[in-house]
Amino acid sequence: MNHVGIGYDVHALVEGRKLILGGVDIPHPKGLDGHSDADALMHALCDAVLGALGEGDIGHFFPNTDPRWENAPSRLFLEETARQVASRHGRLVNVDATVIAQQPRLAPHLDAMKRNIAAALRLDPRRVGIKATTNEHLGFAGREEGIAAIAVASVDLPG
Ligand code: MG
Repeated sequence: MNHVGIGYDVHALVEGRKLILGGVDIPHPKGLDGHSDADALMHALCDAVLGALGEGDIGHFFPNTDPRWENAPSRLFLEETARQVASRHGRLVNVDATVIAQQPRLAPHLDAMKRNIAAALRLDPRRVGIKATTNEHLGFAGREEGIAAIAVASVDLPG
């Protein structure tokens, strides 16, 4: 049976933090603020997969009050999410995501993001869609106050 899930995440852009998206360290004067590495793309993907499982969100599995996850690479969260799929004898079919960022330009990094995400989820990179768009200078993303990501996942589950 095919199950789908959706995920959304946003983190504020601040000075003094690295910008990590899809596990890629992207040169930029600002980075995303958060307890972990604040990788909004990987977080949205986690929530999409967990949503397809009918599970709680990423904060349920990795509370931001837990010192273990301070500055943690979000790859760990995606890997755990994949384990949740496997523990239900499920199979991840595909994931697709869009990052909404006015700056920097993400196109040169999309392939590397895709490879990182595919590796963390143990998925063929052809089953991972990663896209980026600006927000046409509108709203918080358009004003470069933060970066958002939205994702969907399809999971084949028994029964
Ligand atoms: Mg997050």
